[in-house]
Amino acid sequence: MRMFSKACSLVVSSLPRCSSSAPAIRGQPSLIPRVSRKWLGKPLMYGIGTLLVMPLRTIHGVGRMFGAARYLCNMTSVSSSLQIELVPCLQDNYAYILHDVDTGTVGVVDPSEAVPIINALEKRNQNLTYILNTHHHYDHTGGNLELKAKYGAKVIGSEKDKDRIPGIDITLSEGDTWMFAGHQVLVMETPGHTSGHVSFYFPGSGAIFTGDTLFSLSCGKLFEGTPEQMHSSLQKIVALPDVTKVYCGHEYTLVNDISFQI
Ligand SMILES: [Zn+2]
Repeated sequence: MRMFSKACSLVVSSLPRCSSSAPAIRGQPSLIPRVSRKWLGKPLMYGIGTLLVMPLRTIHGVGRMFGAARYLCNMTSVSSSLQIELVPCLQDNYAYILHDVDTGTVGVVDPSEAVPIINALEKRNQNLTYILNTHHHYDHTGGNLELKAKYGAKVIGSEKDKDRIPGIDITLSEGDTWMFAGHQVLVMETPGHTSGHVSFYFPGSGAIFTGDTLFSLSCGKLFEGTPEQMHSSLQKIVALPDVTKVYCGHEYTLVNDISFQI
């Protein structure tokens, strides 16, 4: 699988936010990991290693080629008609703007704040139809209400988080299929970080949005779930086709790389 990540640096949220097992370092390129098994159990290590080593090499190589990883890969086309734009938010969050070229339909995954999303949409004179939330944490939903008020977008999230996701309109559960402008979206419940966490898998485009379940070289903290739940969630992601591209919710690559080396 390919991991799409880049370093970012914006305003630090003063509210509780999601995190991996270590704090983020700002403005640094992704690195090829030198992985030990100190932090992860063997089964999980196998899964993470399988997921990450090759894509990070790819990202690192491209970053060096262009002289900076900071601004690489912020727009990708994962199919003939679906474009995905990475939008850095807060300190180290990623939101992703989905654009179906054929219909002009636009969605956003995990908008932690509204302004960067509005700025990105206005650059291309785009409207916003959907807001997809992987889980309820503020640094994934903080922009919901402002974006919904401005664009009338529908908010989509887990049935289990129907009372915790601001402005939620459409609730989905494990195995549900939802359509984004003709693109099939499979809902995978991936609890562990939170009890209601879901990942959005686009099989036709080979893309999955993992929120705070899977990062580059780590997984999310277990705020509401057990290690067994997180392991099961990661196994679901590992079982996807090798060509699947992973779009994670935070940039933790460098600090995780350092943690592995200690
Ligand atoms: Zn979170």
